[in-house]
Amino acid sequence: MSRGPDSPHDRRVLADRVLERTGVDVARCYQCGKCSAGCPLAADMDFPPSQIMHLLQLADFPEFAELALRSHTIWLCLTCELCFCRCPMELDIPKLMDALRYESRAQKKVNPKARDIIAFHRAFLDSVRYTGRLFEMGQVVDYKLRSGHFLQDMLQAPWMFFAGKLHLLPERVRDRRLLKRMFAKTLKAKESRP
Ligand code: SF4
Ligand code: SF4
Repeated sequence: MSRGPDSPHDRRVLADRVLERTGVDVARCYQCGKCSAGCPLAADMDFPPSQIMHLLQLADFPEFAELALRSHTIWLCLTCELCFCRCPMELDIPKLMDALRYESRAQKKVNPKARDIIAFHRAFLDSVRYTGRLFEMGQVVDYKLRSGHFLQDMLQAPWMFFAGKLHLLPERVRDRRLLKRMFAKTLKAKESRP
């Protein structure tokens, strides 16, 4: 049986769980700030990456780790890896952000501002799951249904359609069984995560 992060069996601090899952040891961060200085989205984040590291370092104060889990930052991160390239300690911050997103969802602590981002990710994954490719029209419809932003960017649609960027029918990969196996394997790996 998989043990959820909030189960009574799992009282480790968040930094330890992240270390186990990703190999990223936040204790090695010495707060030089180079990651935040290079992050293209730092200005839009509630906590830039170096501050997320700091929140996790304060293991005696779980309320700080809680702030990281509830932050908008972890959902804004693009996994562009600029911070990772700049970090003198070679800390894989994008991998850490991924682990925090997982924890945030598992503990139902997702920042309300991340709703549209998650809707977009789901629509993208559904498109890949059912066609093996990105089917833009399907993704747009799926995203609008999930997010409720029915009129957003509607004026872009006609010229995209006439420019051949939007197709009415999806193009599917030939080996759908392989695709199914790939998703099943990924889901199984997710369930067996520590
Ligand atoms: S990977 Fe995320 S945190 Fe790092 S620089 Fe890119 S957007 Fe910023
Ligand atoms: S660049 Fe690396 S060491 Fe410097 S603050 Fe960011 S994570 Fe910490």
